[in-house]
Amino acid sequence: MVIALGAHADEVTRRFGYAPPLFGKRGYHVHFRLAGNAVQNHTMVDTEAGFVLAPMRAGIRLTTGAEFARVDEAPTPVQLTRAEPLARALMPLAERIEQAPWMGVRPCLPDMLPAIGRLPDQAGAWCAFGHAHQGFTLGPTTGRLLAEMMDGETPFIDPVPYDPSRF
Ligand SMILES: Cc1cc2nc3c(=O)[nH]c(=O)nc-3n(C[C@H](O)[C@H](O)[C@H](O)COP(=O)(O)OP(=O)(O)OC[C@H]3O[C@@H](n4cnc5c(N)ncnc54)[C@H](O)[C@@H]3O)c2cc1C
Repeated sequence: MVIALGAHADEVTRRFGYAPPLFGKRGYHVHFRLAGNAVQNHTMVDTEAGFVLAPMRAGIRLTTGAEFARVDEAPTPVQLTRAEPLARALMPLAERIEQAPWMGVRPCLPDMLPAIGRLPDQAGAWCAFGHAHQGFTLGPTTGRLLAEMMDGETPFIDPVPYDPSRF
């Protein structure tokens, strides 16, 4: 069994006596139409205000920075509210396309490394969560590392930094 449930993974591991200090860093985005015949061909980053305006198929995407929040708390997209007037000063944004912003959660551990390896004190159970900001990038690597450990092969990298038992 591989527990790969993102920010909810500890809900299952706790049943097996393992309570890692997992927490979430959220991100939000919402799309806008452009007013008139305006066109945006490139992504823009406002590093001072901390938002991105990106042309997507759905519209012009306004994104936020990270937000610390408990997993089950309601969305609080205040960063979008604050960024919107600043974004409107950069681009002629028309109305929002969606009613509710999109929200995603980055599953994080305090050392910002994932938990990959045996579920402590359990036979036949494995962990693969806590990939924080790099879960898309690290998914294939995690899959290979975990498969090699499960098969008893020599892993292609040292798995010790990711050992779930460090917590
Ligand atoms: C705004 C934002 C931008 C990001 N940008 C990047 C980036 O540029 N590059 C990058 O590499 N990563 C990025 N990430 C991080 C990446 O999205 C995550 O690290 C990755 O999605 C984690 O993958 P996961 O499979 O561990 O968890 P998730 O993707 O969260 O998947 C867990 C799944 O388990 C399901 N689940 C939970 N509990 C249960 C249950 N009890 N029963 C059944 N199913 C359950 C959930 O519904 C979900 O489908 C970004 C994240 C955010 C929020």
